[in-house]
Amino acid sequence: MPYKSYLPTALFNGTEFLYNHTITVTSEGVVHAIEPEQNVPDAVKMDGIICAAFVNAHCHLELSHLHQIIPQKTGLVGFIEQILACRQADDTLISKAALQADGAMYVQGIQAVVDISNTAITAPIKKQSSVRYYTCVETSGFHPAIAETRFTVAEQVWQLFTEHGLLAGIVPHAPYSVSTELFQLIRQAGAALQSIHNQETAAEHRFFMEKQGDFLQLYQHLGVSLEHFSASGKSSIETITPQLATDRPFILVHNTFTTEEDVAFIKNHFAQPYFCICANANLYIENSLPNIPLLVSSAIPLLLGTDSLASNHTLSIAEEIKTLTQFFPEISLQVWLQAATYNGARAMGLEHELGKLAVGKQPGIVCLHPNFSVTRLA
Ligand SMILES: [Zn+2]
Repeated sequence: MPYKSYLPTALFNGTEFLYNHTITVTSEGVVHAIEPEQNVPDAVKMDGIICAAFVNAHCHLELSHLHQIIPQKTGLVGFIEQILACRQADDTLISKAALQADGAMYVQGIQAVVDISNTAITAPIKKQSSVRYYTCVETSGFHPAIAETRFTVAEQVWQLFTEHGLLAGIVPHAPYSVSTELFQLIRQAGAALQSIHNQETAAEHRFFMEKQGDFLQLYQHLGVSLEHFSASGKSSIETITPQLATDRPFILVHNTFTTEEDVAFIKNHFAQPYFCICANANLYIENSLPNIPLLVSSAIPLLLGTDSLASNHTLSIAEEIKTLTQFFPEISLQVWLQAATYNGARAMGLEHELGKLAVGKQPGIVCLHPNFSVTRLA
């Protein structure tokens, strides 16, 4: 039979719930009809919410081999030191873990991913995948003298992704790890989508305000001179904004220590900002969560990300929704479902194809059960 009809507890179309409605899907996964339940008496009953498949707005597929290796709750600086010490591995091992993680994401209902990459090792996997990827080729280097070298490497990686026919653009790692010179080169490269790790630790604020705190130790440990850097006396996002393209989608990831003043600043200075929440990774690394009620009330669209298997137990958006629901029961599930579907598709420029249940669309379709397990229906 070419069509299948389902009657879920509720349908979520990307922006709102529909009750007492069925959805009929073709064997190719195209939405054929959404209609009142009495029209389709033989629909299969589903215990859960049917919605478009999810968008993971922040992942590092190439770190999948670090699953269960890095200790939890060390704080960000300890985590970065561990990543730098452990990330080197045999290419075969890295590829094998990435391929497995890619397959697992699809099974867990993820249709599209904004993936951060420092190398092109995941390019062949992404090309073959059932998941759609936008690759943010990440570059970093806090000393101005290495800006050109680092940028050239990023351009080469970017080129390898584009040669595979994949969407990609160059982005900065974080405010504390990119020099003004490197920020300017990234801006000139003009990627359509920008992303940055933002305010992931309290140390970031202290570094920019006073040139004090954990980052001094990190740079000492790495042998990077900070002579060129002086405290701006402003928050990190305020300090770097003059170097950023402010007219395009900009994914601010983590925002664990983002304040009300930062939110107001971001609203005033960026045309299309998004706050991406990676709750399980925040708990893993810093054992803290962003001021979620502040981010929800900001009117800046929210996204959900898993970060990598180096800092998460699984790459599952459903697990992120579960955590956020447990910690913030007062916030409507609608907020997280929209973040995980329509908002993510919009940030990627794919809102006409993904993230919504609408007749004629083929967004991938999932059922999210009350225990947050996922059944993929298309
Ligand atoms: Zn990340």
